Amino acid sequence: MLKIENLSVYYGKIRALNNVSLEVRDGEIVSLIGANGAGKSTLIWTVAGCIKPLSGRITLDGKEIPPLPHVAAAMGIGLSPERRRLFPNLTVRENLLMGAFLRNDKEGIERDAKAMYELFPVLAKRKEQYAGTLSGGEQQMLAIARALMSKPKLLLLDEPSLGLSPLLTSEVFRKITEVNQTGVTVLLVEQNAKKALKVAHRAYVIEAGRITMEDSASKLLESDHVRRAYLGVRGE
Ligand code: ATP
Repeated sequence: MLKIENLSVYYGKIRALNNVSLEVRDGEIVSLIGANGAGKSTLIWTVAGCIKPLSGRITLDGKEIPPLPHVAAAMGIGLSPERRRLFPNLTVRENLLMGAFLRNDKEGIERDAKAMYELFPVLAKRKEQYAGTLSGGEQQMLAIARALMSKPKLLLLDEPSLGLSPLLTSEVFRKITEVNQTGVTVLLVEQNAKKALKVAHRAYVIEAGRITMEDSASKLLESDHVRRAYLGVRGE
């Protein structure tokens, strides 16, 4: 579904992504794990059309995604940014409606908002509450729900566990599996490598802007390098 070929992104002279190639197939959850500053967010935001790459190609179902966020959204890319990028002074319901800004099927939007309240019951209880006053976990659920309101083919998740307790992190990851089971393909970037690998079908490791490993998530969970560098397991 998503194909990234030889993507390089620079911020001035700083190279954030170096010749990155990656693929997400229909129905998969693919995780991209890496340390701080490895280039994970840059990759997600480039796929969402928010950053113009220096070189390389990104296609969705064979069609090139241009560096234009509204076009990427209309093509079926839904971005759930790190939760602090919600609209804090809008209510839960208003945030959800903002996620549907490209749609004009009022009934469909209402139906999908209802579906979001069913998927995330905690949001239903807080419909009229300002997003900025939600707890961290609730905000993360809202960020995912808002992205789903655009009816994306591919959901991009930027660090969904950031700042969450282990309990809330587990809950958010359970929801990601549920969302995937409704037919949404997912590309997830995460520092919490253990959770990201447990939830995914396949995964990539990114180090200093380069993809260094690629395999099924279960194989990467067993890899010595991944265990030592990302899962905190000490060598013999
Ligand atoms: P983290 O997990 O800490 O968010 P990340 O893997 O998502 O890290 P990026 O945010 O993509 O990494 O950053 C990749 C590199 O690009 C880093 O070296 C970062 O300092 C640099 N970078 C990111 N955004 C900018 C920017 N707007 N201007 C200059 N350099 C940037």
